[in-house]
Amino acid sequence: MQEVTHVLGIDIGGTKIAICVADNQGNVLTSDRIPNATMEPYEKSLPSIISLSKELVARAGLKMEQIKCCGICAPGPLDLVNGRIMKSPNMIWDDVPICVDVQKGLGIKTVMENDANAGVLAELFFGSAKGLKDVVYLTMSTGVGGGIVSGGKLITGTTGNAGELGHIVLDLNGPICGCGQLGCLEAYCGGRNVALRLQDKLRYRPDHAMFKLPGVDGKLENLNFQAVREGAKAGIPLAVDMWNEICLRLAQGIGIIISSFNPEMIILGTAAYYAGDFLLKPVLEQLPRFGWKSFREACKVIITELGPKVGELAGASAALNALNN
Ligand SMILES: [Zn+2]
Repeated sequence: MQEVTHVLGIDIGGTKIAICVADNQGNVLTSDRIPNATMEPYEKSLPSIISLSKELVARAGLKMEQIKCCGICAPGPLDLVNGRIMKSPNMIWDDVPICVDVQKGLGIKTVMENDANAGVLAELFFGSAKGLKDVVYLTMSTGVGGGIVSGGKLITGTTGNAGELGHIVLDLNGPICGCGQLGCLEAYCGGRNVALRLQDKLRYRPDHAMFKLPGVDGKLENLNFQAVREGAKAGIPLAVDMWNEICLRLAQGIGIIISSFNPEMIILGTAAYYAGDFLLKPVLEQLPRFGWKSFREACKVIITELGPKVGELAGASAALNALNN
């Protein structure tokens, strides 16, 4: 039986911050959140992060010395070498040395990881990939991100940015991606790009059936990834065509991942979690076009069971990973 080790996880989200105390057996002992913390100046949020962390450790019946590591997870851009969160369009924080500040405030070793990498670690420590060594996690939300564990180790690459699977180019004549390249996996399957493409198609067609879907309410800006999903379910031809392309291109991307890493599991997150079999089934039907049979048969492609919880286990997972290495 493995010795029980406790860690602290701090997950910085778009607006809220979630903090938890967890162990290496996949249990969360205590957790809580600070709403709107990243909408406040960093100087104001940092003391709240430190005090809630201390409180959660105490609530778990532990002393800070018993916490072996603290992991911080944040959306990019991050400076992982210096533990800083850089200026991002969605945050008022501007290049903050959070890793050093938390380490100083709590007096324990503190590490940081980006959210897609931490996502694969969350699956490894808390989710469907427990005990596995070759796993790829693909997030599908606004963009498409990836995290790769190979031979039991997180692949970080030479600058810490490995796993940008959303920007593998699938078609040189494809749609433009937010990164400037043409035909990236994200350009086909990322929420922002799908929404923009749909809105472009329907900008001058206010009578189109897509506008009558629940949740769209006649508004162009509500034509998003979910609208394509719901439109496809309702059999609206335009949405069916878009959904088929999303599934085809996702299968193509998964085929490249299978051929590159020969993983035993690929876990699809976020948008896939909400779409379920409606996405997974057509993707699996297309997959034989994009990879060798023996590789495909060795790899299970599944949808995350952690769902939105991934975002609150990522920091703790980064801490557990740091202890393993
Ligand atoms: Zn791209």
